[in-house]
Amino acid sequence: MTRPYVLLSVAVSVDGYIDDASPDRLRLSGAADFDRVDQVRAESDAILIGAETLRRDNPRLLVNSADRRAARVAAGKAEYPLKITVSATGDLDPDLKFWHYGGDKLVYTTSAGAAAVGDRLAGVAEVVDLGDGIDLGVLLDDLGRRGIGRLMVEGGTRIHTEFLSADLADELHLALAPILVGDPDAPRFLNPAIFPGSPSRRMYLAEVSKIGDIALLRYLPKMTHEEDHRWMARAIELARLCPPSDTAFSVGAVVVADGVEISTGFSRETDAKVHAEESALNKLAETDPRLSRATIYSTLEPCSQRGTPTRLPCTNRILAAGIARVVIAWREPATFVANCAGVETLRQHGVEVVELAELAEAAMSMNRHLNLS
Ligand SMILES: [Zn+2]
Repeated sequence: MTRPYVLLSVAVSVDGYIDDASPDRLRLSGAADFDRVDQVRAESDAILIGAETLRRDNPRLLVNSADRRAARVAAGKAEYPLKITVSATGDLDPDLKFWHYGGDKLVYTTSAGAAAVGDRLAGVAEVVDLGDGIDLGVLLDDLGRRGIGRLMVEGGTRIHTEFLSADLADELHLALAPILVGDPDAPRFLNPAIFPGSPSRRMYLAEVSKIGDIALLRYLPKMTHEEDHRWMARAIELARLCPPSDTAFSVGAVVVADGVEISTGFSRETDAKVHAEESALNKLAETDPRLSRATIYSTLEPCSQRGTPTRLPCTNRILAAGIARVVIAWREPATFVANCAGVETLRQHGVEVVELAELAEAAMSMNRHLNLS
């Protein structure tokens, strides 16, 4: 069973607060950043928010753009993502806006919470009893069974802390607002907790962008060196599937986005000349929105010139696809092409290239007969 990809989204002040202590909600973001959040919501199958935040902010939690809703419907999805809240106590006011806007609603609670809710939410939300306590892993298993592929979590403090401390967050969008709150009673982004590997585990920083006066930092908390090794091992498996050749390398490639494999390829997979990265990219639409957040794993450095001049070098294909991260195991030797400049070219265009030299031997093993220079 597949759990959904979990994306945490938060806006914080420079001193780490998500609100002030006043009854009115502090506006940390501007219009452009709210629009970005609207886009992330539209790309999600479900949006989750804690009951505390629901009570404090009383949000509607909608996709506001009519165009984005229309695009969802055109893609065969519900107009609005499923809205989810989590409450152990079941203390949920049926008059909150949350229940009365958008599409389907789901409440995860305990047995005691379910008893407390009673039939107060009948007809507006499905209530799921998770037993004695709320285990986020069990919750994600249930969402997986319901076909939820992408879950956006919009807080608050307790929910974000629990997802991160349970190592269940695949992605974190931290919108840093140029504001200082300075109020010790104001809520923070995270509570003190035992986070996996902290403080020595460094999250992978996938993107930094400026949206008005907001700095958006996109982290992939689980994208570790181990994760890269796992996908490269998969690419090496694929390289073993290549039809044998005395005139070309055997290479495997995997395209990974949102923590899952979205395409694979290997040398000579579909015709005698096709390269691994090319074969993997050929299977995806050029406009696939996942490409911009994808990593391509290739056992060999992507080529920068080709023996078949009618076909684009893989480096150019990767740049055209908008892929921002490339992981390789070995650099192309001068066996067939005097000077492969794949890595240099990708880096010149701002692509992050990671070399797993420790896997080079394994990635090269099926090419030994080629008299590698
Ligand atoms: Zn190539």
